[in-house]
Amino acid sequence: MPRDESKEGTGLGTRFLIYPQAPHVPGYATPETVWISTDPASLQPGPSDARVYVRDAALAKDPYEFPYLPPFVGLTHPPAAAGPDGHFDHIQPGTREFVAAHAFAAVSRVLDIWESYLGRPLVWHFAETYEQLEIIPWLDWENAQSGYGFLELGVERGPDGRTYPFALNFDTIAHEVGHAILFSLMGVPEDLAYTGDFGAFHEASADLVSLLSFLHFDTGLERLLRRCHGNLLTLNELNRIVELTGERQIRLASNSRRLSEVTSEVHDRSRPFTGAMFDTLVDRFHALLVEEGLADARLLDIDVRDFDGALLDRLTALTASAYRARPFLFKSALARARDEVGLVLARAWRMLDPDHLSFDRIAVAVLESALDGEPDLTAGFEANFRWREIL
Ligand SMILES: [Zn+2]
Repeated sequence: MPRDESKEGTGLGTRFLIYPQAPHVPGYATPETVWISTDPASLQPGPSDARVYVRDAALAKDPYEFPYLPPFVGLTHPPAAAGPDGHFDHIQPGTREFVAAHAFAAVSRVLDIWESYLGRPLVWHFAETYEQLEIIPWLDWENAQSGYGFLELGVERGPDGRTYPFALNFDTIAHEVGHAILFSLMGVPEDLAYTGDFGAFHEASADLVSLLSFLHFDTGLERLLRRCHGNLLTLNELNRIVELTGERQIRLASNSRRLSEVTSEVHDRSRPFTGAMFDTLVDRFHALLVEEGLADARLLDIDVRDFDGALLDRLTALTASAYRARPFLFKSALARARDEVGLVLARAWRMLDPDHLSFDRIAVAVLESALDGEPDLTAGFEANFRWREIL
């Protein structure tokens, strides 16, 4: 029998289908083909590879809670399996196997993106106990949680009142993987050294992992730019539209809260930092557009955080024609700004000590991480941290 060469390690990875946003979000009903770094030869049914495996519980299962922890050893549904070509993109949406493969692909995709920023493989924070992360892709439970060695995904209620598996919601999965990445890189504080800012920074980082990972979808980037006619400034005022279209990551990131305006609740307290990072990304995107002669230099005169509606309309008109003329160059400028911010964030995580963590220390670490990059970027971070009262 001839050898099936498609299953050999080619270094190209394996094809999966991922929805950039939950499929009930208008405009995102079609999944995108994504290459996961694991070769077909190293993938088992489940799917399962060296980093992650899926176990789809067949009977009602309670969410994990100490001391009830992985591995799950009960009855499971048949695992998702590769097609004859070794890839997983043949599995039909709407099936149990698709949901399992989707959860696996979304986790793997986020890992691939952040390992690329880090420049090395990530070691799970639970590596002493478990080699792989266990995913339970579909629980009858209106919640999702990640913990020591596991990610469990329940169901969410959609705007139509129906329930949808969280396993199809890239945003939720990326946020949870974001927490796991941060635990791996930064660890946990000693009991007495825990601060509210540690919790808030975790939430901000998880949301930024979700946002920056979403911006790696070809269709995600294009839809976003098309919707705002190339002018991300409008996202600040288009919160309402973003809300309707369901891009939660952008809705959260595009906010104008300062540190003195939020409560100590971790999600609320995370918003000024998330906002400062997002504004820096937008500032940098504009700077690149102007630098490359793709947009009117007046774009730089606009303060991202505080602008006048009439001026914004005039600028959108300018950006809109520039965007229509060069949509792919706008897209590559946004990708570059995304990567510059992603690299700085990943570097800052590795520098931070979780004990007695505070936002001013975090801001200093971000600025130090940005130092070897573009001076523009460092200045952008600094201005935004000051405006947010973080520095
Ligand atoms: Zn969270």
